[in-house]
Amino acid sequence: MGKKDEVSKQFLDALEFRGIKRRDFLKYCGATAALIGLSELYVPKIAAALEKASKRQPVVWLNFASDTGCTEAFIKASYPSAAEVILDILSVDYNETIMAAAGKQVEEILATSKKAGGYILLVEGGIPTKKGHGMMGGKEMLDVLKEMAGPAVAVVAMGSCATDGGIPAAKPNPSQIIGVTEALKKVNISKPIINLDLCPVNPEYLVGVVVNFLLLGKLPELDSFGRPKMFYGQTIHDNCERRAHFDAGRFVEKFGSQEEALSYCLYKVGCKGPMTYSACPKIQFNARTSWCIKAGGPCIGCAERGWTDKFAGFYEPLPGVKIPGLGGVEAGADKLGAVAAVATAAGIAIHAAITAASGRTKGKNGGEK
Ligand code: SF4
Ligand code: SF4
Repeated sequence: MGKKDEVSKQFLDALEFRGIKRRDFLKYCGATAALIGLSELYVPKIAAALEKASKRQPVVWLNFASDTGCTEAFIKASYPSAAEVILDILSVDYNETIMAAAGKQVEEILATSKKAGGYILLVEGGIPTKKGHGMMGGKEMLDVLKEMAGPAVAVVAMGSCATDGGIPAAKPNPSQIIGVTEALKKVNISKPIINLDLCPVNPEYLVGVVVNFLLLGKLPELDSFGRPKMFYGQTIHDNCERRAHFDAGRFVEKFGSQEEALSYCLYKVGCKGPMTYSACPKIQFNARTSWCIKAGGPCIGCAERGWTDKFAGFYEPLPGVKIPGLGGVEAGADKLGAVAAVATAAGIAIHAAITAASGRTKGKNGGEK
């Protein structure tokens, strides 16, 4: 480890003072290295980058049309939490949900941040475009976004409400809610935008983006939806722990059944994993203890644009898709030998068909097109 990669005792003492032990901090850095696709060798560099960043990049976190679920997910992340580390390296100057101030005082803080500029603008929630349907301090939310995005260095749309309207924009969308990218186009503002789709956002995705920026000095590579490829480059189905059951044709047909107890594939009870691009199976939630499918629920596709309408009803299988299987019963070794090649080919063809149906295929380097 080079001298410049050494974390100072002062910094470690400061963490200790906040109740974060050195060992846990380095463990956290190791997990973060894996998160952004780097080897363990990068742990000292990440630790040093986090210390350097304790200069604290200012952040303004705006809440528009949403249930503040992304803030909740963030502040409830567990020890040593994404929230603790991020709040140590970022200076969250404004977040209505967690700040103590209220009323006029809050408006003044926002005005001060705007004047100073140079902050990262985190946006949670969709933007109502119907007049009078979303106001902050007597102003239209669209106007607040316009005012605050102007002096920002970059904008991060946190969660599916911010990326494309999410649940508040589900049909019939009476408030004509749109996502941040569309809203900024509408008001002629051009800024680097990172979209972190999911409902709610996974706090570790934000950590990954911030650490990537601190370590490499640039924003991560994005896909055509403005999402970091490191988190949205593969489908849920590609990495699902129940995938072997899908390939063998073992499905849960209804909840409460023996098949459910055996953790069979949830495709027939509505899983949208084959059409959904996100690293949920790898990164999971709540300090990587579990995620939707591990907890027994089908993926409802919340990482995908328009998922609220496109994937409803959530417990209905995707229509028009053939699924693999050997008559619904796992065959013995001899029978399996005869049909395995056919079933495997069918499985691959179906996966390819599903991927094609989602309008995306993989590029040579594994990224989506
Ligand atoms: S259909 Fe869903 S539960 Fe089944 S393997 Fe794919 S992602 Fe997993
Ligand atoms: S597994 Fe599916 S439903 Fe669950 S958070 Fe990920 S994309 Fe959303």
